[in-house]
Amino acid sequence: MSLRKIGLIGGMSFEGSAVYYRRINEAINQRLGGLHSAQVLLHSVDFQTIVDMQKTNRWNDAGDHLAAVARSLEAGGADCIMICAVTMHLVADAVSQATPLPFIHIVDAVGQRLIAANKRKPLLIATRYTMENGFYPARMKAAGIDVMVPDAEAREQIHNIIFDELSIGKVLAGSRDLLISIIETAKAQGADSVIFGCTEICMILETDKLPLPGFDSTAIHVDAAVAFALGE
Ligand code: GLU
Repeated sequence: MSLRKIGLIGGMSFEGSAVYYRRINEAINQRLGGLHSAQVLLHSVDFQTIVDMQKTNRWNDAGDHLAAVARSLEAGGADCIMICAVTMHLVADAVSQATPLPFIHIVDAVGQRLIAANKRKPLLIATRYTMENGFYPARMKAAGIDVMVPDAEAREQIHNIIFDELSIGKVLAGSRDLLISIIETAKAQGADSVIFGCTEICMILETDKLPLPGFDSTAIHVDAAVAFALGE
């Protein structure tokens, strides 16, 4: 069978993108057996360049940068485009409009999974940009999902865990405990689930070992990629 080629915009961080690469290939191999593996085009950017743009609010520049990457993936023969990071979906419009290829949006994929599980009040754990910018809750709201975000202190702590630890491969028990206590608090406030709204959270938390059912953006986005590759 001929697999459709998955175009990944990665490197944000490289640790998170490595999870995508491994899981996409494992899933294709599981589905097709033998030595089957995925057809993937991965363009991994220099994350520092993107982080500098995030910190200085140069989102249009970041959109232009990733749009150019999307065009290069199209030129290389990709059949779809995905951004392996939730935060950079802030510029999803610029990226999705850069080529005529299907764009697999991470928020839509997670939203569909929440609806299927009958969850409507998830806590969002993500970078400060994703938790504070509004693009994520707004897109979920359109799907009937009411996203909760942690308080300012917890948002800062989560943001720092993502950038200072997970993005460079540091997984610390103290940070895991802190994330779990933030989830406990949200549960007491009425959250019915928790979204791993950053593609590195799956490095430190497991969806089924939490005070609330977890929804891992990376795993769900990977499932969508695999379904696309198989033409489903
Ligand atoms: N990979 C992360 C995310 O999913 C954070 C990195 C970034 O800021 O792009 O949001």
